[in-house]
Amino acid sequence: MKRAIYPGSFDPITFGHLDIITRASKLCDELIVGVLNNKQKNPLFSIDERVSMIKELTDNLDNVHVECFEGLLVDFAKKKNAQVIIRGLRAVTDFENEIQLAQSNKVQYPDLETLFMTTSLQYSYLSSTVAKEFASYGGDISLFVPPQVIPLIEAKIKNKEK
Ligand code: ADP
Repeated sequence: MKRAIYPGSFDPITFGHLDIITRASKLCDELIVGVLNNKQKNPLFSIDERVSMIKELTDNLDNVHVECFEGLLVDFAKKKNAQVIIRGLRAVTDFENEIQLAQSNKVQYPDLETLFMTTSLQYSYLSSTVAKEFASYGGDISLFVPPQVIPLIEAKIKNKEK
């Protein structure tokens, strides 16, 4: 039984994340989307909001589960008895940070493998930050995030402006 974790902030989930989730779910028996409750970052969406958005959008994928976690990814992986970490790679800029992270995790938990999946070409520019940036200037984000997420981002941004 291969259980993998796809960790991230998902603030909010984009088409790029969904693409990785769908493709990764075909490679393992169970995929846990691990939503990081990182107190150092100042997310636009609360942890519960991020988890519930991803749950709704992955409802059709039977072997995908969504959970939040705090602290070290290796501890979460051990707790969940997961053998694989999935991360997405877009440009070279992702690489430096990702390899450092993967190697640190490997030192801490040698049985844990990190697998990198290359972004699909049409999402190679896409990040949660880009989606939030465009939305904050009233831009069209329909190519960045699923339709259900659009009103949620807009409402958050309106609230912030008050
Ligand atoms: P983090 O803060 O941990 O980087 P993110 O939510 O930004 O969390 O990203 C989670 C994972 O998804 C990372 O591995 C990231 O590289 C990957 N990812 C984000 N956007 C895309 C995309 N457009 N295509 C492929 N992978 C992506």
